[in-house]
Amino acid sequence: MSNCDSCASNENCSTGDKDKCNSKNDKVMPKYGNIKNIIGIISGKGGVGKSTVTGLIAAELRKAGYKVGVLDGDVTGPSMPRFFGVNKERAKMIPMTETEVKFIPVETEMGIKLISLNLLIESEDEPVIWRGPVITGALSQMYTDTEWGELDYLLIDMPPGTGDIALTVMQTMPVKSMIVVSTPQDMVSMIVKKVVIMIEKMNIPIVGVVENMSYIKCNNCGDKIRVFSKKTAEEQARYLGVPLLAEMPINLDLVESLERGTAEKYISSSNEYKILVEKII
Ligand code: ADP
Repeated sequence: MSNCDSCASNENCSTGDKDKCNSKNDKVMPKYGNIKNIIGIISGKGGVGKSTVTGLIAAELRKAGYKVGVLDGDVTGPSMPRFFGVNKERAKMIPMTETEVKFIPVETEMGIKLISLNLLIESEDEPVIWRGPVITGALSQMYTDTEWGELDYLLIDMPPGTGDIALTVMQTMPVKSMIVVSTPQDMVSMIVKKVVIMIEKMNIPIVGVVENMSYIKCNNCGDKIRVFSKKTAEEQARYLGVPLLAEMPINLDLVESLERGTAEKYISSSNEYKILVEKII
């Protein structure tokens, strides 16, 4: 094996041929960093909790002592800065050449490195009215041109759907595995199943499915009240043909902390979401 096959960053390149080092098995490597594991979190349908699960996994990995980065790949609906309560901050852009810049990610209170289009534009409510190829280009650039440094895990909050943008991520970035997020609704599972088949066609391993908003826990007796479907999370996972990673209830305390931008604090003081990372690490 040549040096270039084993090195994941052009900064580590021992051959002097940085172009060669930028490609590992035809995958694009970030220019400013060394990332050990890239994991995509995907759903196929908006609003099921993909970004929430991405944030929870990132925070749990960080709690376990890993160096973690998050790439907000949901370019037209970026929500990661709000999850981490850093939506008022802006990522720095450092000119490298006449045509190139380097992005300095915003660091959350826990020390998670975050890059999102919403951290690069002036105001977070400014819409992105771009066609697919431009969005794909922006996402690829945030991945390659961010100063990630040494990371154990880079989590990508994947763009919704099975279209062009998700396809580009899976084809061009060295994604090690995928985590699928679903809710217990037949309509959602049907669409999520399409995503599962797409990931399988791309030969990317699936760690499992997180069934989000599975139930509400009764405050009095602790019973699980299934709001959307009587089917169990195991049944849904069987339908999708992937392992069940976790079953998460609707959690109003989590929502409240998200609204206040204090989700990291909430996760730090809770053991509830540890299960999300047990099968990853
Ligand atoms: P997606 O990324 O799939 O579009 P989000 O993660 O943005 O979905 O979640 C959509 C909404 O649902 C957000 O307002 C979020 O706070 C809420 N939400 C997600 N998961 C839960 C949960 N387990 N309990 C309560 N609310 C949740």
